[in-house]
Amino acid sequence: MTLTFDIKPTTSPTSDQERAAKLANPGFGRVFTDHMAVVQYSQDKGWHSARVESRANFPLDPAAAVLHYAQEIFEGLKAYKRDDGGVNLFRPDANAKRFWNSAERMAMAQLPESVFIEAVEQLVRIDRAWIPGGEGSLYLRPFMIANEVFLGVKPSAEYIFAVIASPVGSYFKGGPAPVSIWVSENYTRAAVGGTGGVKCGGNYAASLKAQAEAIAQGCDQVVFLDAIERRYVEELGGMNVFFVFADGSLSTPPLGTILPGITRDSIIKLARDAGREVREEAYSIDQWRADAASGKLREAFACGTAAVISPIGKVRSTSGDVLINGGDAGPVAMGLRKQLVDIQYGRSPDPHNWIRDV
Ligand code: PMP
Repeated sequence: MTLTFDIKPTTSPTSDQERAAKLANPGFGRVFTDHMAVVQYSQDKGWHSARVESRANFPLDPAAAVLHYAQEIFEGLKAYKRDDGGVNLFRPDANAKRFWNSAERMAMAQLPESVFIEAVEQLVRIDRAWIPGGEGSLYLRPFMIANEVFLGVKPSAEYIFAVIASPVGSYFKGGPAPVSIWVSENYTRAAVGGTGGVKCGGNYAASLKAQAEAIAQGCDQVVFLDAIERRYVEELGGMNVFFVFADGSLSTPPLGTILPGITRDSIIKLARDAGREVREEAYSIDQWRADAASGKLREAFACGTAAVISPIGKVRSTSGDVLINGGDAGPVAMGLRKQLVDIQYGRSPDPHNWIRDV
């Protein structure tokens, strides 16, 4: 399917000076570029009105379905500035596929992969001056909301798909710092048959209380266990998890109720390329504690688009604290991190064809 995007540059662009000031210290998620890409859907017209225009509020009726029944999905990916001035997108096709699957699970209209990628690329092109140099990047947030004006509980007949962009600095100032995680015993993230495997806003709304509990316990992040036995490690609020063993092998929880992370998939491939065994298997919190104590477990790390790889230094629960690798970042996590980051910034070859030059 081809849709031609109507490109309407803003008539009030941010001045070079103001943009430079914003890019000097962007933080995460509060600074936005000048434009957005939008595509609309209705049952009679299908996908239509594709455009790139000035970033602005959406006109939204108070009875729009998303405001009541939370039919909403999103994605997250980044554009990286290369040393030669070019721009890399990392696996946007994988985000487009996950978005398609999320739409299917949430009974929403499915956006063709080509339109998703075109929207992202058009936005990156028009706002390329907003991509920070160095270790920064432009975080891209495609999302879709149900906007039919109707209070009945049924799939909406109308949708707005949009992409916005936010320049972000290096996630860790002064190198990746190990994170501490809190094991949630009071809350679960996802059940079999639920929505854990897709990226819908509701999953995040439901995780906030558990994350707040983690913060109250002095931890950076929450780790969820499975909803049936309350034993098996699933994932963090916004990152997947890996374990590194003394024999050099890695394991990560299997897909199903967790989000199929694109970083997770990339790490599995890179580790296997390097000859490491990678198992996708259930791993219990008790085993985690026992293996950390015996020395069988050498490292644990979390991974996702925002931070790439975060070593896990400490696991805290009602049974006490367990240090991983003495609380320090381990060599396997750091090696994989460098490998991935070098591919993303175009500093090393791209054996799996993950990069899209924009
Ligand atoms: N799990 C959850 C719940 C997430 O929100 C994310 C971030 N998208 C991830 C894992 C990591 O996914 P990715 O590597 O595709 O960013």
